[in-house]
Amino acid sequence: MALKEFNVKNAYCKRVWDELKVRYADQEHFLQAAGLVLETLSPVVDTMPGIEKTAVLERFVEPERIIMFRVPWTDDAGKPHVNRGFRVQFNSAIGPYKGGLRFSPEVSLDVLKFLGFEQVLKNSLTTLPMGGGKGGADFDPHGKSDAEVMRFCQSFMTELYRHIGADTDVPAGDKGVGGREVAWMFGQYKRITNQFTGVLTGKGLDFGGSLIRPEATGYGLIYFAECMLKAVNTDFNGKTCIISGDGNVAQYACEKVTQLGGKVITLSDSTGYILDEDGIDAEKLAFVMQFRGEHKKIDTYLTKYPKAKFFKGEKPWGVKADCAFPCATQDEIYMEDAKKLVANGVKLVAEGANMPTRADAIEYLQKNDVLFAPGKASNAGGVAVSGLEMSQNSERLSWTREEVDSKLKHIMTQIHDNAYETAKKYAPSKTTDYVSGANIYGFLKVARAMDAQGLV
Ligand code: NDP
Repeated sequence: MALKEFNVKNAYCKRVWDELKVRYADQEHFLQAAGLVLETLSPVVDTMPGIEKTAVLERFVEPERIIMFRVPWTDDAGKPHVNRGFRVQFNSAIGPYKGGLRFSPEVSLDVLKFLGFEQVLKNSLTTLPMGGGKGGADFDPHGKSDAEVMRFCQSFMTELYRHIGADTDVPAGDKGVGGREVAWMFGQYKRITNQFTGVLTGKGLDFGGSLIRPEATGYGLIYFAECMLKAVNTDFNGKTCIISGDGNVAQYACEKVTQLGGKVITLSDSTGYILDEDGIDAEKLAFVMQFRGEHKKIDTYLTKYPKAKFFKGEKPWGVKADCAFPCATQDEIYMEDAKKLVANGVKLVAEGANMPTRADAIEYLQKNDVLFAPGKASNAGGVAVSGLEMSQNSERLSWTREEVDSKLKHIMTQIHDNAYETAKKYAPSKTTDYVSGANIYGFLKVARAMDAQGLV
């Protein structure tokens, strides 16, 4: 994949960017994430000449620590396997490292560094005291038995436990790691350390988990998009929406759009997408949740709702709609997809997944007056509720569903308003430049903390 030529104007940002491109030439995803951030930080770094003296930017793009380890496990036939495990502890300037664990064959240092880097800014945006990290393993849970996945989780934690802690690093789930895997890892952590602490978030409700955590990313995404629509004097009522993915984020984004009066007409998975022009209402979504829980693919939808259509191997971006929510994985929207979105009348794209939109596609959408929200702002609801889970664990309390949902809504509104105001100040443009607004607002807090804490 070709790396976009970023237009990094500030001389200090440009020097750091040029060095980074050479040092990490083999880390394409990380470079894409860092290049876009350095490009958008230029106007604010222009106003902060002092930060070069304390090498804030050089430190900001370099993880504090990377842990890499082997994860040996045996399958049900007794055959041994060895996977690679990682934890990228990127930045702890404003709080303990916090970020998910991903189990997927695509996991590499490149992918986890991009996710960890984005997480630093995302966590800063939530206004909660959390640093950024990310981890996982190149383990593919597809087709593995429950016992195999449990043994893998236990082996993974047998190494990871010595590097994490409630005040050091608090991992959570991500792709391939849901409540079941978090529980198995928590059990193993407790067994090894003999401590019951809030060391992981996304736990079960019976042992320290928070209500609304499963819903948080999808709901938060739609709360954020609601603020974007409000800023241009409209709302979800009567809007047609296309969503990719059929997993955790996609499901709850679909639920919230419907609750707010919009109509979701697509969902997808790695095999293709389904189109239901009548809308995927609560009853239909319950069916999706059921068959996805049974590891069935998205075309199963047609067995109950035969009026819908299945498009094998395709993405939903060519469907006419008002709003689009990529909620599956990175690299979902390339330039040709962005062109289809614009041609089909889409006026708002908000990322539920992490970096689903390629940098040149973002530029194209913004140039064509599409309101665009980057995942680090619009999908921050998940980590925000993880932060609330950490607070509840520390206090040994559990808040009600309504309390957590209203705090989530408040945080997403704050993230929106901070990104919006910052964009107006540093990157004025016809349609709000949420990318610049989110990057600059998230960066400022971390940069101030790093500067204050000295050269560490
Ligand atoms: P899930 O594992 O629940 O769902 C992932 C969805 O994406 C599935 O529909 C899956 O289909 C699809 N998918 C995966 N890989 C591909 C691919 N290469 N091409 C097309 N479709 C694909 O994950 P989540 O919903 O939890 O996460 C989705 C995204 O959101 C990720 O980028 C994650 O990092 C991000 N995110 C998640 C948060 C959370 O709280 N869950 C928080 C913030 C961000 P299939 O089953 O066929 O593979």
